Amino acid sequence: MRHSASHVMAEAVQSIFPDAKFAIGPAIEDGFYYDFDLPRSLTPDDLPIIEKKMSEIIRADLPFTRREITKKEAQKLFASQPYKLELLEEITDDKVGVYEQGSFIDLCRGPHVNSTGDIKAFKLISIAGAYWRGDEHNAMLQRIYGVAFATQKELDEHIARLEEAKKRDHRKLGKELELFVISDEVGNGLIIYGPKGGRIRAVIEEFWRQEHFANGYEILYTPHIGLSKLWQTSGHLDFYQENMYSPIDIEGQEYYLKPMNCPFHILAYKSKMRSYRDLPLRWAELGTVYRYERSGVLLGLLRTRGFTQDDAHIICTPEQVNSEISEVLRFSLHIWHVFGFHKYKVYLSTRPAHSIGTEQMWQDAQEALRKVIDENKLEYEVDEGGGAFYGPKIDLKIEDALGREWQMTTIQFDFNLPERFNMVYTGADGQEHRPYMVHRALLGAWERFFGLLIEHYAGAFPLWLSPVQVKIIPVADRHLEHSRKIIAELKSRGVRVEVDDRSERMNLKIRQAQLEKIPYMLVVGDKEVADNSVSVRRRSGEQLPIQPLASFLETLTAEIANKV
Ligand SMILES: [Zn+2]
Ligand SMILES: [Zn+2]
Repeated sequence: MRHSASHVMAEAVQSIFPDAKFAIGPAIEDGFYYDFDLPRSLTPDDLPIIEKKMSEIIRADLPFTRREITKKEAQKLFASQPYKLELLEEITDDKVGVYEQGSFIDLCRGPHVNSTGDIKAFKLISIAGAYWRGDEHNAMLQRIYGVAFATQKELDEHIARLEEAKKRDHRKLGKELELFVISDEVGNGLIIYGPKGGRIRAVIEEFWRQEHFANGYEILYTPHIGLSKLWQTSGHLDFYQENMYSPIDIEGQEYYLKPMNCPFHILAYKSKMRSYRDLPLRWAELGTVYRYERSGVLLGLLRTRGFTQDDAHIICTPEQVNSEISEVLRFSLHIWHVFGFHKYKVYLSTRPAHSIGTEQMWQDAQEALRKVIDENKLEYEVDEGGGAFYGPKIDLKIEDALGREWQMTTIQFDFNLPERFNMVYTGADGQEHRPYMVHRALLGAWERFFGLLIEHYAGAFPLWLSPVQVKIIPVADRHLEHSRKIIAELKSRGVRVEVDDRSERMNLKIRQAQLEKIPYMLVVGDKEVADNSVSVRRRSGEQLPIQPLASFLETLTAEIANKV
């Protein structure tokens, strides 16, 4: 039905732009799109006109009919359609299928619904630019996205979800709440954190460090660049170079920006002899890496070129691997709970056709992963053959407030790097053995995690993460002096507090604080000054009873400590 809707949209566009050139129009999740080459740029005002035409075609209940014609006939039929001709070039069969409805005919494998009347509920959503075949050397086409559902109710619900998602868009909120900046003057896909975003990151990093130390990790710091020889040994230059930036020449030697942190951790491991008694080693790093992504796929915080992974490598004996994996998963779920996420889905990816390592290693590793998933009673799906060539992995998808899944945590075995770098430890038998190595990114990339956090909370961060936790609102200028005393007291208890000392009306100041999504507002007037009390409002608009400053402070600091 969705694919049929794209044909109906193409017919509607053809009726409005008789010279339109048609590229491709597939069905996608929840809907469809079609790429057109048109004589002018579309505007949002065009969408209702196209929708109206589509509705007419649907009401007319025109049948979709399939025909098989020879390639030669097709070339004649699509003589004025250069994109269709290009597609035809690549078809090796002599026969091709075409689908026709009303006045529109398309080169198409189908299948389709019987007639246009079977398209029940649809809406056109947006217009975007798209290169022909996704290649920036090709012509820029205009893409119209639409959604289609079996019932109006499902469509309405979907539209409501889209509206909500738009309100929560991290790019929009990032700007409004002054969390981060993306500037053309810096370059695509590189993020600047302003003081508010920076404060949130600092709070989370502090928490992250404490948790890692408490859970048996040590924290490493490693350089941003490394010699080409290092990336040769690691295999990145052979298998990953298209994702890396061009080298930097320093004194005739080539350095690369790091796309991953692993080789540095391995060199730290190899800096001395290791015995089985030293293992397991759990080494974590907030490591900023750089990877080349095509400019067309960059998206706010979600897809960037420079990002910070909350990376860790666990180096252990084969006997320790079960309990280590179990521990990593437990630790991951604990952290996700603290950030307010309670729904996950696990994906287990197993051995692909081309891979390294023995069958025994793969079996052990996959069993370790499966066992841990079972122990934690998690719902999971197996991606048969979906592992990396160097080892199996589990990925954790986190569900947000809108029910969307975000792939965040990854736990990966690696049978490759320990070989390439010849990592060894001395076993109880006095012989050299190869350790197991597991890569783990818990939050994933900080940037992506922050994007998720912003959208999940719609910018209204929990108290413990809010860059400003309390806003003091003096009713008049004569209450400023007392307000400053309150600030000093709150600050001495580690509370992040600001005062709105503008000579504006109180209601305007309250509204401003609500827009900034500050958890608590303290209104200070004559009565509050007289008995050292505070009138407390939450950002939801809820008004709490007037209370002594001391008792508010108790509640506040307890909430912050409990990560509310
Ligand atoms: Zn089609
Ligand atoms: Zn790694």
